[in-house]
Amino acid sequence: MNYHILKKDELDGFIKKLAGKMKVCAPVAKGHNNFAFEEVTSAGGIALSYIPTILPPKKYFMPPREKLLDFDISEGKPKDTASLEAGETAIFGVHTCDLAGIQCLNMVFSERPRDYNYLLRKEKVFIIGLECGGYCDEHASCALVGNHYPNGGYDLFFTDLGDRFIIHVNTQKGEELVESFCLAKAASADMIALDKVREGKKAVFKNEIGVEPGKLPEIFAKGMEKKVWHDIGERCVSCGNCTNVCPTCYCFDMADTINLDMKTGFRTRTWDSCQFETFAAVAGGENFREERAHRQRHRLYRKFKYPLDKFYRAFCTGCGRCTRACMAKINLKDTLKALAAESK
Ligand code: SF4
Ligand code: SF4
Repeated sequence: MNYHILKKDELDGFIKKLAGKMKVCAPVAKGHNNFAFEEVTSAGGIALSYIPTILPPKKYFMPPREKLLDFDISEGKPKDTASLEAGETAIFGVHTCDLAGIQCLNMVFSERPRDYNYLLRKEKVFIIGLECGGYCDEHASCALVGNHYPNGGYDLFFTDLGDRFIIHVNTQKGEELVESFCLAKAASADMIALDKVREGKKAVFKNEIGVEPGKLPEIFAKGMEKKVWHDIGERCVSCGNCTNVCPTCYCFDMADTINLDMKTGFRTRTWDSCQFETFAAVAGGENFREERAHRQRHRLYRKFKYPLDKFYRAFCTGCGRCTRACMAKINLKDTLKALAAESK
């Protein structure tokens, strides 16, 4: 195990030094109780205590809209040139739920056919996690899915020990950075303090919905026809907020834009949402999920059932963003509790 120490009053120097090497993004306050990952050049504006940002850090791996290629069909065989805009970026202060979200996307985009835009961008991102000592707010359900403790997915991971941070070094890139910054090695007293923080969290983080997580796959396996989907379907307005803010939603739409010369153009991809009525519409006028109840059901099956079957892990990170962003006040924890109650 490789742990180092950074005194709190040295954080500003750390961020400034890091910003001298690459672009640094961190959570900053945006109005009342809202936060966003944005570029910083010092520690001054960084929110060390924050509820999950409006958009998760997936925006650095898969931007809401990106150009994939330029094309030219002016001569015989069409020509295309791949396009990728990605610079070295450090994301500082990523909570354990969002680290889990990045791990989920890594699995999806590493599958064949591989998504090279995602994977090449990922290579340029340096991730610095930050441990939560308590719940962000009442909407989080990270303990339900085991994301309240760090489970990898970062280069460095910071835990607050009062007057200092203890830093877990998890990758070669992380090792090189702490060495170049000459950070002191952690002493045994620091390791004891870290154990104490982790132990203290056991009393704070509890199963938020009172349903054994191991039972969720079975509850979902039998849950297709439950009334709860119709109840939330009646309230949902299909705005797509819940999927846009979700750290593990990755569906996108593609569009070609043709220039006025009618010969050249470019292809873009844009985040899409399974909550939009047109999402599952196909040729011939059929729509596989015309009803909002079915679209809501699909959204949660894509978190608690299908990825478990395929990747052996839930794709809900417990961040609570979908609940915070829902204009119809549809609450994820209430939905899970209602589904579990119906399944009894
Ligand atoms: S479903 Fe909701 S709580 Fe779960 S990861 Fe997505 S936004 Fe977060
Ligand atoms: S945010 Fe709420 S209202 Fe909007 S699509 Fe999602 S569940 Fe429906």
